[in-house]
Amino acid sequence: MNVLHGLSIDLEDWYQSTIDPSAELSARFEANTEKMLESFAARGVRATFFVLGLAAEKSPGIVRAVRDAGHEVQSHGYGHVEVFHLTREQFHQDLLRAKGLLEDLTGREIFGYRAPSFSLDHRTPWAWDVLAETGHRYDSSVFPIEMRRYGIADYPLEPRIVDTPEGRRIVEAPIAVFQFMGRRVPVGGGGYVRLWPYWILRNAWRQMERANRPGVLYMHPYEYDPGELKSYRGQVGWKTRLHQGLGRKKFPRKVDRLCGDFHFGPLCETLMPWLESLTIST
Ligand SMILES: [Zn+2]
Repeated sequence: MNVLHGLSIDLEDWYQSTIDPSAELSARFEANTEKMLESFAARGVRATFFVLGLAAEKSPGIVRAVRDAGHEVQSHGYGHVEVFHLTREQFHQDLLRAKGLLEDLTGREIFGYRAPSFSLDHRTPWAWDVLAETGHRYDSSVFPIEMRRYGIADYPLEPRIVDTPEGRRIVEAPIAVFQFMGRRVPVGGGGYVRLWPYWILRNAWRQMERANRPGVLYMHPYEYDPGELKSYRGQVGWKTRLHQGLGRKKFPRKVDRLCGDFHFGPLCETLMPWLESLTIST
């Protein structure tokens, strides 16, 4: 238990960010977030909440509740459009809109970012420059495995300072992976935590500890809600409901066990050594 791993939540509503951005927030959004906050409080663990601007605008009270519970609030952007579908200028606007909104709402500086669907990859070489340019000091959006929809194969596994193409500097904290039989296996959160048995997750985090490497875990409030997908029967296809709902029942318990077996905290603390050397060098 000598490594401080990063616990992170993308604070968004499942239906709004996955199916229809123009939809109202579901009533479940606040209830699920509260469930999560209760579970973290019972375990005595703090986390980073990457808040989606669109959700914060419609539910400012829950963002303040997250802040007041002692968690770190950072940005998940405004509109949940994948970065590789935006132009550089659109990304710039999205970041500033979310940062301004969240700073007004929390009274705190916003300097960390998580992209929707880990959409920072080889298609967005300008992304780190735009992030640094808009006042972000760290990012946690790289999925260091080549997946079907996202990811960068062979990206370094440990947090690092990125020297951007235009000469800026920013800390990148990639999502946790497990190295097994010469391959990288996704274990860092969401669907992967829902589907793997606990012993695989425990072995993965033990491996990171042996390598003295902090691992970033990510999740969403809706993963604490096993009944949600049933309520969209008739509105959302069965394949999506099955895929998105699988393993939700056991999810909170797995996260709680990980937080008991390993030391987790907000990313601003996990990344302290890198953030400090960034400040010294700039
Ligand atoms: Zn998201």
